[in-house]
Amino acid sequence: RTVYLNGDYLPEEDAKISIFDRSFLMADGVYEVTSVLGGKLIDFAGHSKRLERSLNELEMQKPEVFDDLLDIHRELVRLNDIDEGMIYLQVSRGSAGDRDFAYPNSDVKPTLVLFTQSKPNLADNPAAKIGIKVISIEDQRWGRRDIKTVQLLYPSMGKMMAKDAGCDDAWMVEDGHVTEGTSNNAYIVKGDTIITRHLGTEILNGITRAAVLRFAREAQMKVEERSFTIQEAKDADEAFITSASTFVMPVVTIDGAPIGIGTPGPVAARLREIYLDESRNSAL
Ligand code: PLP
Repeated sequence: RTVYLNGDYLPEEDAKISIFDRSFLMADGVYEVTSVLGGKLIDFAGHSKRLERSLNELEMQKPEVFDDLLDIHRELVRLNDIDEGMIYLQVSRGSAGDRDFAYPNSDVKPTLVLFTQSKPNLADNPAAKIGIKVISIEDQRWGRRDIKTVQLLYPSMGKMMAKDAGCDDAWMVEDGHVTEGTSNNAYIVKGDTIITRHLGTEILNGITRAAVLRFAREAQMKVEERSFTIQEAKDADEAFITSASTFVMPVVTIDGAPIGIGTPGPVAARLREIYLDESRNSAL
């Protein structure tokens, strides 16, 4: 695999960063995951905008090549011959050559890394026909979940708790209300209304969420952005998640309780189809 590191395209085994890099020592880094369909990038503009916001919120320097990121993504797709898959991008605050809680001086350059992951069945994912099973867990992450940082230990623990319970993912709950999945936004459907948590510092502003809600409204579907409980989810007609790597994915059980009749619902299926069609049409 050819990866990108600070201006160079290199074989992955030759891409090396300092042990003092702050993403390694302090989780002082932000990231984006953009999917690739038919060799083209999905929702690139949204991911680029959110990256800029994450950097601003953490007073982190923009990489010098920020305006060339689309070209860099495309070059990696070309070099690795990716038809369907993902591109991971990470910016860390860089390395000042020692460990220090305070941010280093502004002459320290950020570290920029990108790599591809080939996933031949990303759009035609068999899981979309079966649906996924989730458990609920307490949300024990930090309070700025609107920033997409690489501080992902609690989401990893949540994923392991789900696996141990024979499930696929965990929905996190704070003050009795669902925040989001370990790496996705959470939705329920009641009658003809799609319900998903309102934006705030408690969740990540999903790029797929924004697109799916826009398409739902354009298709005259009702959308409510508000918090909901696990009980409400268990009583819902449907549930689903969205993210760049799963698009729209039905949820069929929560803590073992079937949602609706326990099979993927029509609203999730329709939104998945619309999302895939529309984003393929506007892919870069
Ligand atoms: N919420 C969290 C915590 C995530 O990590 C992610 C994606 O990684 C999402 C939501 C979905 O965001 P997006 O649709 O931009 O992939």
